Amino acid sequence: MGLGFSVAGISLPLHGVETRVPERNTKSSVPVRDGVSIVPRATWSSESVYPDRLIRAKGFDRITIHHSARINGGETSQNSSIYELQTIQAGHLKRGYGDIGYHFVVDLEGRVWGGRSLVYEGAHVLRENRANVGIMLLGNFEKERPTSSQLAATHALIFAACKNLGIQSDRVYGHRDLGASACPGRHLYGHLNVLRGERGNTDFSSRDFSG
Ligand SMILES: [Zn+2]
Repeated sequence: MGLGFSVAGISLPLHGVETRVPERNTKSSVPVRDGVSIVPRATWSSESVYPDRLIRAKGFDRITIHHSARINGGETSQNSSIYELQTIQAGHLKRGYGDIGYHFVVDLEGRVWGGRSLVYEGAHVLRENRANVGIMLLGNFEKERPTSSQLAATHALIFAACKNLGIQSDRVYGHRDLGASACPGRHLYGHLNVLRGERGNTDFSSRDFSG
C-alpha cells in the first residue's frame, strides 16, 4: 500500500496520509480538490432526499466535528461502514430529517463518505446548523481512540473544506463547543487543535494519541 490518497486507482502524494477508496467503488468515487476523494452518497444509500424537510444553504462559514457515539470496535471494512451509515441515516429519517444530518462521514480506514449534499444546511447541532458543515467520524471516542488514518483523512477533509468553502480554520469546532454534549468524545476532542491546523504541519503516524 502506497502513500497518499487513491483517486480512481492513482495514488496522489499527500504528506504520508494513506487512504484507500473502496475497491468496488473506485470508479464512482468523486475526486475533489486537494487530494481528498469522496465516496458519493449514492454508493451507500438508495434512500430519497426529502427536499421539503431541508433548508437550502447559502454558503458555509464553520465546521463542526462529531463522533457517531456507536462503539466501532476496530471494524474497518467498507461493508461495516455502509451498515453504520445506513443505520444512522434511518434514525435521522425516522426523526423527520430530510436526509442523514451530516455532510461527511469518515470511517476508521480513512474513507470519506458523502452524506447530505452541501446544497442543504446540515442537521447536527441543535439550533446551530446554519452555515455549519457537519463532519462525523465513526466510533465512540469517549471510549475508543480514532485511528491515525481516520485522523489524517479528517485533517485533509477539513483543510479542503476550509479552502474550498472559504472557512477560517478557527471556525472549526467540536460539537461540545456549541451545545451540551460530550460529542465528539474526549479521545477525538483532544486532537481538534491539530485537526484544524495547517495540513503540512501534521504527521499523525508519529504522534502519541493519548487523547
Ligand atoms: Zn455531535
